[in-house]
Amino acid sequence: MAIERTLSIIKPDAVAKNVIGQIYSRFEGAGLKVIAARMTWLSEQEAGQFYAVHKERPFFKDLVSFMTSGPVMIQCLEGENAIAKNRELMGATDPKKAEKGTIRADFAESIDANAVHGSDAPETAAVEVAFFFPGMNTYAGR
Ligand code: UDP
Repeated sequence: MAIERTLSIIKPDAVAKNVIGQIYSRFEGAGLKVIAARMTWLSEQEAGQFYAVHKERPFFKDLVSFMTSGPVMIQCLEGENAIAKNRELMGATDPKKAEKGTIRADFAESIDANAVHGSDAPETAAVEVAFFFPGMNTYAGR
């Protein structure tokens, strides 16, 4: 199986709930390593650029304002099938539809405040990891 890297963000709602550690435990329990991390408060420009693919969607403005409403914890995760594994741990975008035991089912309130972000494919993972951690977008085979 392929060793991959993916970008994960613990969003402002989950940081405010004080569950960074519980979410990290889930990464670790699933064999995903945190290989880079940065806690920051995103600017409107950064959030808008990061979510540029959603620029035309009706929820874009609210999404940017939510993502800039408080600090976020951003990490690069590495492991076998890291991209799909992280998406599995996260659960569906809408926490009401997320499977029991997933991060969103357990910690998220709504489709807009849904606790975590995770890259959804190798192409987006490469771009998103490089966005926050320049030079770390590919697997270096350490
Ligand atoms: N989002 C929202 N309303 C919607 C759909 C999405 O606020 O109706 C937000 C939500 O925070 C989601 C993000 O936009 O996590 C990106 O949407 P996407 O469909 O890519 O979901 P994800 O990959 O995060 O599960």
